[in-house]
Amino acid sequence: MLIFGPVPSRRLGQSLGVNHIPPKTCSYACVYCQLGKTYPMEIKRKRFYSPEEIDRELTEKLQRLKETGEPVDWVTFVPDGEPTLDVNLKEEIMKTKAHGLKTAVISNASLMSMEEVQEALMQADWVSMKVDAGNDPMWRKVNRPYGSLRFDGMIQGIIDFSKRYQGILVTESMVIKGANDSESEIDDIARVLSEIRPKKSYFMVPIRPPAENWVERPDVRTLRHALRIVQNRCEHEIACITGDESEERFYVTDAIANDILSITSVHPVRETVIRLLLEQKHADFSLIDDLVAQKKLLAFSYEGKTFYRRNLA
Ligand code: SF4
Repeated sequence: MLIFGPVPSRRLGQSLGVNHIPPKTCSYACVYCQLGKTYPMEIKRKRFYSPEEIDRELTEKLQRLKETGEPVDWVTFVPDGEPTLDVNLKEEIMKTKAHGLKTAVISNASLMSMEEVQEALMQADWVSMKVDAGNDPMWRKVNRPYGSLRFDGMIQGIIDFSKRYQGILVTESMVIKGANDSESEIDDIARVLSEIRPKKSYFMVPIRPPAENWVERPDVRTLRHALRIVQNRCEHEIACITGDESEERFYVTDAIANDILSITSVHPVRETVIRLLLEQKHADFSLIDDLVAQKKLLAFSYEGKTFYRRNLA
């Protein structure tokens, strides 16, 4: 399934997702990635699926949602990998906009030094860029980029894009305890954000099982201090997202097993939320036990909660 949801987005409301990159094909191997280890790592842009196939699935999905009266605010390109690796991204965005829908892309920004990537993203109404580090060593520690990528070229690419882009540009930064949460690291991130000048910068903490066991959220005092540092340096709006309450509004159909597999392939979901979804469809938890037994779903524990993620292997 290339189209999933709608899922509640913490920034965009009800959003239909486009999963147009094969599992975990990414230019980064972030230590906090909620999809597990990156395989394969990639920086070469390719054709993965045909834009016609994506558009066909989207058209069918929109028709079904229209029949059930389910609202869709946005269509978001948020695959289980890096969306700008798709050489057809520009065409796919344009086809989506032809349905009269607003489009968003959540990118790790790694390929922003490439003119064609900037051109593709220019078409979207809302673009999010990952900025987890304000210097090369921390970038390599947290995002673990593909070897030939260069930090300075990427940041310059985001700055150049920001000057020309007519849509809404936001950034997101994951703050990790003992990694990028020190005063000097946060100050470096703030300096970079003040040069990018996005509409809004979101700061987040790891709330789902990360790729590396040592990854934890910073304590509240450290996070507050970090936000003050950023607010002092930047003139644009800063927001902090630390919760996951909105997950409870996931949309599922009677094909609930398939829906849960497509949602959990890009977004690990808490057991409590899965139970609510099953209840909505009068289904039993044995459905999840079966998916786990068939190795289609994996269970993880993080911060004392159980999460389920699709097995992408
Ligand atoms: S968090 Fe995003 S950018 Fe980082 S490895 Fe995972 S998919 Fe790639």
